[in-house]
Amino acid sequence: MSRTLIVGGGIAGLTAAWDLAGADRAVTLVEAADRLGGAVGVHHLAGLAVDAGAEAFATRSTAVPRLVEELGLQQQIVEPRPDGAWLRLPDVAAPMPPTGMLGIPADPHGDEVVRLIGAEGAERAARDLVADVAAWRDREAVTLGEVVRDRMGEAVLERLVTPIVSGVHSARADDLDLETAAPGLFAAMLREGSLARAVAAVKAQAPAGSAVQSLHGGLNTLIEAFAAQLPQRGARGVDVRLGRSVDALPTLLDELAAEDAGPVTDVVLAVDAPTAVRLAAGLVALPDAGEHDGDADHADDHDGGRDAPRTGRGVALVSMVLDAPELDDRPRGTGMLVAPSTPGIAAKAMTHASAKWEWLDAACGPGRHLVRLSYGRVTDLPGSGALGFASSDQELLAAAAADVGTLFDRPIAAAQILDADVVRWQKALPRSAAGQAGQIERLRAGLREAPADPDAGLPRLHAAGSWFAGTGLARVIPDARAVAGEILAT
Ligand SMILES: Cc1cc2nc3c(=O)[nH]c(=O)nc-3n(C[C@H](O)[C@H](O)[C@H](O)COP(=O)(O)OP(=O)(O)OC[C@H]3O[C@@H](n4cnc5c(N)ncnc54)[C@H](O)[C@@H]3O)c2cc1C
Repeated sequence: MSRTLIVGGGIAGLTAAWDLAGADRAVTLVEAADRLGGAVGVHHLAGLAVDAGAEAFATRSTAVPRLVEELGLQQQIVEPRPDGAWLRLPDVAAPMPPTGMLGIPADPHGDEVVRLIGAEGAERAARDLVADVAAWRDREAVTLGEVVRDRMGEAVLERLVTPIVSGVHSARADDLDLETAAPGLFAAMLREGSLARAVAAVKAQAPAGSAVQSLHGGLNTLIEAFAAQLPQRGARGVDVRLGRSVDALPTLLDELAAEDAGPVTDVVLAVDAPTAVRLAAGLVALPDAGEHDGDADHADDHDGGRDAPRTGRGVALVSMVLDAPELDDRPRGTGMLVAPSTPGIAAKAMTHASAKWEWLDAACGPGRHLVRLSYGRVTDLPGSGALGFASSDQELLAAAAADVGTLFDRPIAAAQILDADVVRWQKALPRSAAGQAGQIERLRAGLREAPADPDAGLPRLHAAGSWFAGTGLARVIPDARAVAGEILAT
């Protein structure tokens, strides 16, 4: 009897375990934290259990709803209110243009676009509709920043795109691989002869309805369902071990061998890439390992220049429950993205979560609101005093208390904050620099081709998770299922 070892109990590891155990394979899953879920986190405030990390999944494919259904949660699927989010620029606050993608407008002359970037900016952006795209053919690994700057100009880049990529992707546009951020957009630009028309074409292919969905009770209920069902899944159930950070694979494999529960034939490294490289290197020589930063913990020693830190600087989130009936009219839609260097605001984004999700609105109760503010931009230089991952809870809570009133343009007194909590994420946010996709593919190929002899205690190695598949459940889940499929096929 053989078994698969999965290192990492985030959504990737859980999904792989679900499929393998469902096919009656023996699975041991080892997770460093004392809870499953990784970046699909939960925290409790004012008696509510709310998402601390991911809060929604993209609906561009059926991958997530299908898994949700297998876990018996299909009745819990919910859509956000359609209000949309706002942008806060240094000189103006306005709703985000509804037809854009990553802030790139499909209609450079649209009223909402002109309102945010001015007539001159819109004129420059519209040159994209007529300028030749020939110079972009034969280019590979292009960044979002260079394409937007060239096709539409600085105003679109600085005022529309940057607040979104910084707030949502924790990246700067000049480092963000276009193919990773918006698969298919570059090819569509070459085909359509215009970036704006490419945005319209890619959006037209998306399924009708909301671009994201979630679950009543939050995405964390998906993790609860996994935690409850995995131990009974299939003929053998999954052996879940929490609170164990794997440092050396050989040690763990020896321990498992001594348990006499069957040899480990496959290992799924469902962790961040630097950790995967480090763990794999304990077992096999990886030809590509030298190119990859195997030491994530030193990543923040880098400065904020072009040599971007390998793991990013991470983000800190402050969630607050407010007693504020003055927000019942949802004055900023579902939330706000803030342009860098907007005076008087330290946050880079705010989600008005109880405005976004009806179930949460009801759970909060009349006049009460849940907001989540995020801190930490990749462009923040060390020593600049900017708040982020490394700031203390006290600093972050004080900033959030001040920012929330400014962002809503309605003063919120300290007494109105009924509860607040801080969470921090770092390795859950993969790098997305140009060329990253190729590097990751080489790393995966290296693992696939590494010598394996399961009978002699050298298992086959696989990698899964957002560092390999791209950020977000809609990418991580189908990829983890493909990894499980590969294992089942051998
Ligand atoms: C703040 C935030 C908001 C997000 N919002 C959304 C959203 O709304 N929608 C969306 O689709 N995506 C969102 N994402 C992205 C999404 O959450 C991730 O892409 C996805 O959850 C990653 O899953 P994963 O399993 O690859 O990695 P992770 O969730 O990071 O899981 C990796 C697991 O491995 C464990 N681990 C690491 N090293 C070891 C070790 N040595 N030994 C044992 N265990 C180890 C970790 O503890 C962790 O539990 C968000 C991410 C963050 C951080």
